[in-house]
Amino acid sequence: MRPTRLDPLFAPVGTLKGVGPKLDALFKRLLGTDGPPRVVDLLFHLPSGLIDRRARPTLAEARAGEIVTVEVTIDRHRPPPPGKSRAPYRVLSSDETGDLALVWFHAHRARIEQMAPVGETRIVSGTIELFDGMRQMVHPDRVVTLEQAAGMPLIEPVYPMTEGLGGALIRRTCETALARLPKLIEWQDRHHLDRRAWPDFATALRTVHMPAAPEDFAADGPAWSRLAYDELLANQLALGLVRANLRRPAGRRNVGDGSVRARVEAGLPFRLTGSQQRAIADIAADMAADTRMLRLIQGDVGSGKTVVALMACAAAAEAGRQSALMAPTEILARQHAKTLTALASGSGLEIAVLTGREKGQERQRILARLETGETSIVVGTHALFQETVRFHDLGLAVIDEQHRFGVHQRLALAAKGEAVDLLVMTATPIPRTLVLTYFGDMDSSQLTEKPAGRKPVDTRIIALERLGEVIDAIGRAIEAGRQVYWVCPLVAESEEIDMAAAEERYATLGQRFGARVDLIHGQMKGADKDAAMLRFQRGDSQLLVATTVIEVGVDVPAASVMVIDHAERFGLAQLHQLRGRIGRGETASTCILLYKGPLGEVARKRLDIMRETEDGFRIAEEDLKLRGEGDVLGTKQSGMPGFRLAQLEHHSGLLETARNDARLVIETDPKLTGARGEALRDLLYLFGRDEAIRLIKAG
Ligand code: ADP
Ligand code: MG
Repeated sequence: MRPTRLDPLFAPVGTLKGVGPKLDALFKRLLGTDGPPRVVDLLFHLPSGLIDRRARPTLAEARAGEIVTVEVTIDRHRPPPPGKSRAPYRVLSSDETGDLALVWFHAHRARIEQMAPVGETRIVSGTIELFDGMRQMVHPDRVVTLEQAAGMPLIEPVYPMTEGLGGALIRRTCETALARLPKLIEWQDRHHLDRRAWPDFATALRTVHMPAAPEDFAADGPAWSRLAYDELLANQLALGLVRANLRRPAGRRNVGDGSVRARVEAGLPFRLTGSQQRAIADIAADMAADTRMLRLIQGDVGSGKTVVALMACAAAAEAGRQSALMAPTEILARQHAKTLTALASGSGLEIAVLTGREKGQERQRILARLETGETSIVVGTHALFQETVRFHDLGLAVIDEQHRFGVHQRLALAAKGEAVDLLVMTATPIPRTLVLTYFGDMDSSQLTEKPAGRKPVDTRIIALERLGEVIDAIGRAIEAGRQVYWVCPLVAESEEIDMAAAEERYATLGQRFGARVDLIHGQMKGADKDAAMLRFQRGDSQLLVATTVIEVGVDVPAASVMVIDHAERFGLAQLHQLRGRIGRGETASTCILLYKGPLGEVARKRLDIMRETEDGFRIAEEDLKLRGEGDVLGTKQSGMPGFRLAQLEHHSGLLETARNDARLVIETDPKLTGARGEALRDLLYLFGRDEAIRLIKAG
C-alpha cells in the first residue's frame, strides 16, 4: 500500500483550487496521462524554457527585440478612431530618456483605462520593437503598479502548452500544486547530496518551477540534476529489483556435455567468428549457473545471431530441455525456422514452427510433440506464449528483435516455464547509455565482427525529383540480372494507407517492368506474403516493392540494390536495419535513399550519417544525439517508459552512479525495509515504478 504521506501528490489535478472539469480535461491532454492527471504528473511537467524580465534599462537604452521591464509615466491614450475598430489602441508613455507606445489590438477600452491611468507611474514588461522609428511594445506581458511589481517574479517559466491551456494557467496551477508538496523523508544518501550540493526533492521541484535566476533552471544545475538523479535511481532500482527477483537461484542448471553443440558446429558451412564464440561461451556459462540467465546479444544485422541462438538451444537440449524462439513477425519466424533447420541438419534437433497460421490437425500435432518433448526447438510469434502451449520442459526462451516487444511480454515469457533462461537478441545496436537505462545491469554480449566476405554498401542520397533517373538505373540493374528491394515508408498510423502508398508505387513500377515486379505488405495474408518472398528468393521476381515488413531478418543474399522511398520519414535505426538486407552476397551493393525535399538540417544530417557509415553502433549513437533517447529504441512501440525529468544528453553522466547506488541498496537492503529503504519506496511510487515493490512482497 502506498504510504498516505504521498496522497497529496497522487490526488487528481482536478482537486486543485481553480481546476474544474473542463481544465481537468485539458490537463489530461497536456500531460498525456491514461487516467485522470495527478498532481505528481503536473509537477513532473517541467518548464521548457524561461522568460527573463530582469533587464531594467531606461527607454533610451532599450534595444529592439529585447524583453525588458521599464518604469514609465502614462502620458496619453489614443483609442482607435470611431469606425476603425481594427486599428490598435495606443497608450503613449515615457521616462526621462524617451518615449514608448504601448499597443493593443482588439483592446478592451475600460480595462486599459483602468490598467494605465494617465499621469500615473507603471512598471511595464514585454518585448521592445521599433515601428516607423518609434519604440513600441505590442501587448505588454505586464502593466502593474510599483507595489504590484515588487511581488512579480522577474524570471518566469515557460511550459509546453496545449490548445486552450495557456502558460499563465499552467504556471498558476503548478504553483498551487507546489504548495501541496508534503514533507518527505530523504531517500538519497546524505553524503552524496552534500558532496554535490543538491537540494532536497521539494526544494528542487520548487526551484525548477519557480527559478529566481536562469542558473536555477539549468539542466546540469543542482536542482534539475537532483530530480534527474531521482528518476534514474528509481529506474535502476526497479530494474535491479526485477532482476534480483528473476535471478533467484533456480536450482536448474542447464549443463550439457557439449555433444549436440559439437554436432551443430561440425555441420556448419562456415567457421564461427571470434565474437560468436565468445557470445556462445558467455551463454553456456550463464546457463550452467544456478541463477537464471538474462542476457542481451547485440549484433548488427548480418552479424550472425541466429547461429548463436542455435548453439544456446543445443546446450539446452543437451540438458534435456526445450527452447522457444520468439520473433516479432510471422515472416521472420518462418525465416528463422528455415535457417535453424538448415544449420541444425545432422544435429538430431527437431524444430517446429508455431504461429497463428498453423491450424487444425497440423496444429494439434505440433502441440502434442511439444508437450511430449519430441520437439526441441519451437519458433513462433508472440502467439506462442499467449496461447495454451504446453511444453514438456522449457529451459530457454530466445527473443529476437527485442525492441519490438515490451517489458511485460518479456516477463510473461519468463513465466511460461520454470526458471526459464532468457536470451534477448537485438539487431538495433543499443548505445551503452541506453542499455543501462532500459535493461539495468542485464548482461550483454556483442557481435562486433561481420562474417567474412561481406562487402560495403554504396549509399547515395537522391532527391525524389530525380525519380525518373532512379527508375532508369533500376531498369539497368534489372537487365543486368540484379535483384532490387523498393521500400515504401510508413506514412500513417493506419496500415491501409501504407498499403495504398506501396500499391501505388507498385502500379507505377509495374507499368515499366511488368511481371518482374512483385509486392509485399503487412496487410497480405501470411501465405501470400510467403509466396511473394519465395518468388523473390527464387529470382522469379526481380523487383520487390515492400513496406517495412521486410525490415527484420529476411535473407535474400542475391538482392544487391535497395531503394528507400521517402527515406527522410524513417528513423536511422530503421534505415540501418533495412539497408542490412542487402550487401550479403557476392556482388557489391547499392542503397539509394530517395528523399522528398526540402530537408531540414537534422534530416539532412541523418541521411548523411547513413552515407558515411555502416557501423550500427555509431549510427545509434548519432541517432541518440540528434533525436533524443525515445526514438532510438522506438519506445512507443515497446511501451518502455521514457524519462520525464532526466534528459540523457545532460544527465547520462549520472547513470553509472545511479546504477551503482541501486546495486548497493539491493545488496544491503533487498527488501527495502531499512530507513533508507522505506524512503526509497516513496521514490519508486513517485516515479510509477512501484511494480517492483510488489515483486519484493511476492518474493
Ligand atoms: P543476424 O544477426 O542479422 O540475425 P544471421 O544470423 O541471419 O544474422 O546471419 C546472416 C547470415 O550470415 C546467414 O546467412 C548466416 O548463415 C551467415 N553467417 C552467420 N555466421 C557466419 C560466420 N561466422 N561466417 C560466415 N557466415 C556466417
Ligand atoms: Mg536475425
